[in-house]
Amino acid sequence: MSQDFLSVENLTKSFGNNTVVKGVSFAFGKGEFISLLGPSGCGKTTILRMIAGFENPTTGTIRIDGEDITSLKPNQRQLGMVFQAYALFPNLNVGDNIGFGLKIAGMGKEERRARVDEMLKLIGLPGFEKRYPYEMSGGQQQRVALARAIAPRPRMLLLDEPLSALDAKIRVSLREEIRAIQLDLGITTVFVTHDQEEALSISDRIVVMNAGHIEQLGAPHEIYNKPATRFVATFVGQLNTIEATIIDVAAKTVAIDGQTVRVSQLPADASVGANSLLTLRPEVLSIGARDGNDITLTGTIADVTFLGSVIRLRVALGKNILSLDTFNDQRTAPPSRGEPVTISLASKDLLALQI
Ligand code: ATP
Repeated sequence: MSQDFLSVENLTKSFGNNTVVKGVSFAFGKGEFISLLGPSGCGKTTILRMIAGFENPTTGTIRIDGEDITSLKPNQRQLGMVFQAYALFPNLNVGDNIGFGLKIAGMGKEERRARVDEMLKLIGLPGFEKRYPYEMSGGQQQRVALARAIAPRPRMLLLDEPLSALDAKIRVSLREEIRAIQLDLGITTVFVTHDQEEALSISDRIVVMNAGHIEQLGAPHEIYNKPATRFVATFVGQLNTIEATIIDVAAKTVAIDGQTVRVSQLPADASVGANSLLTLRPEVLSIGARDGNDITLTGTIADVTFLGSVIRLRVALGKNILSLDTFNDQRTAPPSRGEPVTISLASKDLLALQI
């Protein structure tokens, strides 16, 4: 796949003295679903608005399919956009909302009607053309907003937190629908979200942003399994940290709560006696021994949270508290607070971010 359908080079945006996007560059291939993920205020919406043409970059270039679009007006860019709030025209029915851009583009009535029908089928609302926005649920309105954005067959789709106003169940089903439609049409899509689960579940690749810059760009499994920075490791998914002290650099051993364990990697500047922080995901910890786990630690159950299919335990190891997930097998009662417990893990699963 060509990697330069959408390319952004050294993009910067300042509002007065406040620089909110700081030299961002990335390139994506045609048909990719890309998420811009980061906490509130990190600049992701501003990047999307610069791609759409609603904000002018302070510096930098934006190209689509090789064409420099940086100074084009929004309506010259041939992009479709869906916003957080439904933003349908309240006085137009669904058919006229979806056909709005087509009418502006001068498409004839018959062709327009056929395209609107096609779009209504695509979003699973056939026969809804005479309804008004106020007669529809939030999820249905957002599907109409999506249909309106893609009806003119744009070169790209830009989605600005389109699910955040919906309740949790609808959010999950609509995100699956959006992904299915995107794959069906093969349309390159940029999706802004602050919700890491949403980004992990829907994207081909994710740009993780923090304070105006990119922390990491990669596929969901790369971002989750191999976080490049401490920010990514803590922002995406749950993370345990364990305080450790380096015992022997050559043997790669550290002490955790008085117990000596061997890790797979020490940092280049490791020195004996230095304090360090090991990080690991909850799901790599097991209760008791397990094949392939070369580290065993003993602690006490500090807390038990019943989540249905999963039981989340918090285990105290001296001053370290670790979260770990066990499946609810329904045959055994969950452990109780205060019980002693042995946990095991594989040293290769310890992320050596700071050690
Ligand atoms: P959110 O999820 O809250 O929308 P975000 O990551 O999308 O966050 P942006 O909306 O891009 O963040 O905003 C980044 C920063 O730029 C914020 O501090 C915001 O206050 C500021 N900002 C955005 N638009 C303007 C504007 N038109 N004038 C001045 N400051 C702005």
